[in-house]
Amino acid sequence: MASSGVRNGGAGHRMSTKLDRQGFGATPKTAAGKQRLSSASAAAGAYRRTSSGPLPAAGAARASSDGVSSRVRVAVRLRPRNAEELAADADFGDSVELQPELKRLKLRKNNWESETYEFDEVLTEFSSQKRVYEVVAKPVVESVMEGYNGTVMAYGQTGTGKTFTLGRLGEEDTAARGIMVRAMEDILSDITPETDSVSVSYLQLYMEMIQDLLDPVNDNIAIVEDPRTGDVSLPGATVVEVRDQKSFVDLLRVGEAHRVAANTKLNTESSRSHAILMVNVRRSVKGRTEMDVSVSGENGHSSSMMGTLRPPIIRKSKLVVVDLAGSERIDKSGSEGHTLEEAKSINLSLSALGKCINALAENSPHVPVRDSKLTRLLKDSFGGTARTSLVVTIGPSPRHRGETTSTIMFGQRAMKVENMVKLKEEFDYKSLCRRLDIELDKLIAENERQRKYFDDEVERIRAEAQCRIAEAERECKITLENEKNKYHQEYLDSIKILEEKWKIHQQSPKKQTKEAESTSNDGEVHNLLQNEKMLRQSAEDEASDLKNQVSHWKKMEATATAEVVKLRKMLDTEASQKEKLEEEIGVLRSQLLQMSMEADETRRSLDKGDGPGKIFPGLDSLVSQTRSSQPREQSNGPKQPIAKLFEQVGLQKILSLLESEEPDVRVHAVKVVANLAAEEANQEKIVEAGGLTSLLVLLRSSEDETIRRVAAGAVANLAMNETNQDLIMAQGGVTLLSMTASDAEDPQTLRMVAGAIANLCGNDKLQTRLRGEGGIKALLGMVRCGHPDVLAQVARGIANFAKCESRAATQGNKVGKSLLIDDGALPWIVKNANNEAAPIRRHIELALCHLAQHEVNSKDIISEGALWELVRISRDCSREDIRMLAYRTLTSSPTLQAEMRRLGIKM
Ligand code: ADP
Ligand code: MG
Repeated sequence: MASSGVRNGGAGHRMSTKLDRQGFGATPKTAAGKQRLSSASAAAGAYRRTSSGPLPAAGAARASSDGVSSRVRVAVRLRPRNAEELAADADFGDSVELQPELKRLKLRKNNWESETYEFDEVLTEFSSQKRVYEVVAKPVVESVMEGYNGTVMAYGQTGTGKTFTLGRLGEEDTAARGIMVRAMEDILSDITPETDSVSVSYLQLYMEMIQDLLDPVNDNIAIVEDPRTGDVSLPGATVVEVRDQKSFVDLLRVGEAHRVAANTKLNTESSRSHAILMVNVRRSVKGRTEMDVSVSGENGHSSSMMGTLRPPIIRKSKLVVVDLAGSERIDKSGSEGHTLEEAKSINLSLSALGKCINALAENSPHVPVRDSKLTRLLKDSFGGTARTSLVVTIGPSPRHRGETTSTIMFGQRAMKVENMVKLKEEFDYKSLCRRLDIELDKLIAENERQRKYFDDEVERIRAEAQCRIAEAERECKITLENEKNKYHQEYLDSIKILEEKWKIHQQSPKKQTKEAESTSNDGEVHNLLQNEKMLRQSAEDEASDLKNQVSHWKKMEATATAEVVKLRKMLDTEASQKEKLEEEIGVLRSQLLQMSMEADETRRSLDKGDGPGKIFPGLDSLVSQTRSSQPREQSNGPKQPIAKLFEQVGLQKILSLLESEEPDVRVHAVKVVANLAAEEANQEKIVEAGGLTSLLVLLRSSEDETIRRVAAGAVANLAMNETNQDLIMAQGGVTLLSMTASDAEDPQTLRMVAGAIANLCGNDKLQTRLRGEGGIKALLGMVRCGHPDVLAQVARGIANFAKCESRAATQGNKVGKSLLIDDGALPWIVKNANNEAAPIRRHIELALCHLAQHEVNSKDIISEGALWELVRISRDCSREDIRMLAYRTLTSSPTLQAEMRRLGIKM
């Protein structure tokens, strides 16, 4: 068996070393079994190896703008001897000898001569179905999954195993599964069900008629060619979407059954027809940045609209598996009962395929694709854009040497056909359109929602603003009205009081007798009234001013804060004016009281005629003279020395009258003494003569309210003098005053008593005794009366006491806590520290400052809440000296400082 050399096809070319020895497909044999078709990049890599890698396709692998050159791959498969052959040809050797490792096939011409052919793969009779799939079909399937069209086709004489290779379902034996089943398994395992789809059509081509094997009634399906792309399709064929392997196998079985049935009906056999399985794979490409879609604007500039307008990319590839009719020569098939014409028609497609392949192999300018339906259907598989694998099947029998030879030649020619594989990728405008529609609807809905929200929000803010404006206007109005009413009422009240008192004064007979004085008093009161009126007028003006400013403020919201500050200042001014007025009213009141007392006195003495006068001649004139001594000094009237009066009646005599049995006498006497005591010059004499003791006794024992009041006044006057203060103390005056304080009801009496004690409180030396005899307790007891005049005296007393204590402590004469605190004055102090009556408030503020100056008092000051008052005084007190005193006091006390830090109070 001599070899004449390696041949390739009928042309007898020696095979060049360019042959791809690595395997039929792109995937190396060794890896093929393990490799899963899972990732696009792996598949792309496989594809690159084919096109430009180290394992190029035989001949050439060249890239062009249209695609990449890829030769049709051809494998030869030898069927094992069947039983018949084993029996009949037992004595003969096979007509072929395979050298799979060299990928060569030796075809015996005769006993001494053989030709050797090289294939992309040589598959022996022992090759498993799995291996056949991996070398023949798997690379094509991978390409299809990557987006290329692919064809797997079996060519060979009837009975050589085409259907065995392609179409076995392998239900009885898994290992027997053919290429169709295995290809679908790989495809289904690689797709993403959510985005990809696989559908199949199964057809038979017999005598140039295409019959739908999934719907056999449909037996003349037209081939439609896209005029633009040249792609062929069969729109009339049933297309079934495949989701799982079982349904696919069922489809194949149904198709096969239909194929058998159809052939029985046509009185033919399946080997006369071509079976075509078309698998359409549609995949969407994810995660790839595609070129931008440029939109030309009106101004001619193109604006890039990344993302939204970029259409998704889809790949629509097709795997065509063709189980060709038997390739045996016509004359042989003719023996099966068909006429030559029939036989020609039967095999028209097959011979047309041979012609096309010849033309392609020889690079002939004309390829007769249109000669048959088969060549039209396979237009893309040979000389087109698909990746194509052909398996040629041969039998071992020398009896069929001729057929075997022609099959081998077909395969050799097919190996020369070059395809230009091309990615079947396109923009999915439909899905872009759908996506944009959805997007648009979403945006419309969102826009509507936002619009509504915006409108609601505007409405809400508007309503809120109106509410606030209305609220502010209402509050302003109320505040203004209240302020106005308050001031108005206060002015009316004070004027009324003044007028009433003036009236009383006018009616008094004293008016006629003391015209000169009255005139001067008239003028004074008149002036005061005038002042009052003017002040009231100015206050009203201020109020209306405020009103204007407030309405102005309403309009000018931006300057509102400044206006409020201004208003506050004005209110402060008002308040201080009011304070001044109150003080003046206080003075006026005391003057009026004095006058009314005198008028009362005069009236009584006139009413009584000469009664008391007869008993105590000279007293009346003394009364009237002492009574008028002060005013007269102010007027230009004749001034009578008091000493003369004493001489006339005798002080002792007057004092003795204090103990008279006659109540009226006592009243007169005490008034005289009180008037005398008002004169500093008389005080010493009164005290020396025992007047003080008498007054104190009277104060304590008298049942008459007037007597007690006047006596208390007298004592208070006497208590202004330091010497007298000592004497009052020495004579147990404090105890007496304290008792009076606890019994008396009349506010004026209490005022006098409180005044007396307050005076004593101002004496540094008497502090301890005064307190020891209950002076402070008595003072504090009187606050029960609540009359502002009384409270003012109490406050004054406390302030005096605190001041003396503070002085003593500073000089080192006093240690320990304040006696005021010991006697429980602090709560009252705290309670009244912000009393609205200015005299009370001022005294208490001072008292607090004095107390706080000594660390020893700090604990009580903190625990009783006086610290807050001190802080307030240091901030708000309208009198700067007190404010500064409070500030200094607070800042110099470590204990108070620490407490303020703890409470977070900042100075
Ligand atoms: P074809 O389709 O080419 O006419 P078949 O596939 O029908 O041929 O095969 C004919 C017979 O040969 C069948 O009985 C088949 O089982 C058997 N056969 C074909 N190829 C093989 C093989 N490689 N191994 C074992 N039996 C085979
Ligand atoms: Mg067959």
